[in-house]
Amino acid sequence: MKNFEWTEPQTVEQALAWLAKANGKAVLMAGGTDLFTEIKETVVEPDLVIDLKSIPGLASIQKVETGIRIGALTPVAVLAADAMIKRDYSGLSDAAWSLATPQLRNVGTVGGNICQRPRCWYYRDAQMVCRKKGGSQCFAAKGRNKYHAIFGGGICHIVYPSDLAPMLIALDAQVTVSSPRGERSLPLGEFYALPSKNVRRENVLATDELVREVKLPLAKKGTRSAYIKLKERETWDFALVSAAVRGTVSGGGLGEAAIVLGGVAPIPWRLGKTEAALKGKKLSESMIKEALRADLQEARPLEENGYKLQLVEAAVSRALMSLARG
Ligand SMILES: Cc1cc2nc3c(=O)[nH]c(=O)nc-3n(C[C@H](O)[C@H](O)[C@H](O)COP(=O)(O)OP(=O)(O)OC[C@H]3O[C@@H](n4cnc5c(N)ncnc54)[C@H](O)[C@@H]3O)c2cc1C
Repeated sequence: MKNFEWTEPQTVEQALAWLAKANGKAVLMAGGTDLFTEIKETVVEPDLVIDLKSIPGLASIQKVETGIRIGALTPVAVLAADAMIKRDYSGLSDAAWSLATPQLRNVGTVGGNICQRPRCWYYRDAQMVCRKKGGSQCFAAKGRNKYHAIFGGGICHIVYPSDLAPMLIALDAQVTVSSPRGERSLPLGEFYALPSKNVRRENVLATDELVREVKLPLAKKGTRSAYIKLKERETWDFALVSAAVRGTVSGGGLGEAAIVLGGVAPIPWRLGKTEAALKGKKLSESMIKEALRADLQEARPLEENGYKLQLVEAAVSRALMSLARG
């Protein structure tokens, strides 16, 4: 492992100053549960680690007039156990509970979760210089690709592994980003970028920016949410496919809804055609399967991951039917 320097800024401004000074050679650390695996495996070799944990005020969940503010350093366990989140955004609570193990949820943070790097075994192997690490090919395209993307791959077939990101996008979350130029806020759905835009990164953060908080709009009366995560085994695991849904149901008919998948694409993948096809319809499993058809036609499974198409049907169907049941 390469030696690196370590700093513990006491304010966001100090963290930003360190980031700017390091000119792309620093990494931000929150809980470190993902970052340290990368450093130990020499996938990432920073000159400087900026430990954000000493910055006060970034680890809370607050209700304000315009919505809910979730600080970037809020531990996933705190989000999972929060009574207001459980009541008004139950899908987010379920997504947080589904994540990893109690130890990892205690240490891992919301900001780290939505900025975590992909788990692709070629990317995580220091010997494999794939496109994401500056090489010229994606080894998954013709290699072992059971866990890889069925949508949006193209030049790199990673899947985005976060459990919180699809659910937060379905809930219309905004992300607040700080830089030496001030703060900007953008929909979390626009925070992620496909490999065709920048194969080296999964989001649009500049090298001198950090995530400060995530904001949720106030929950509208009658709106429900659900998160279904399908895994290879019962114990902790990443999603093979997950479905995050939010919507209103009255008289069995679906009102305005959002359906976002995890585990199927390099970014959380929104099913806009399915959402449109189901609007106003009385939900049933056969209706959902039919509505999914247009989005699923755009899937491009690789040799070993065609099974994910069936998992998408199962996850979306279970999530939407749970909304209908209330
Ligand atoms: C065994 C194991 C199982 C796991 N299972 C799951 C799972 O089921 N679901 C899941 O979603 N994840 C899982 N993870 C991944 C990870 O541990 C969690 O996502 C965790 O929430 C990451 O948070 P962290 O604070 O530890 O991030 P860190 O490791 O500190 O950071 C992760 C990345 O985000 C960047 N970062 C951190 N904070 C910020 C910020 N504020 N602004 C900008 N960039 C930032 C870091 O530079 C780093 O690249 C698992 C990890 C392990 C080791």
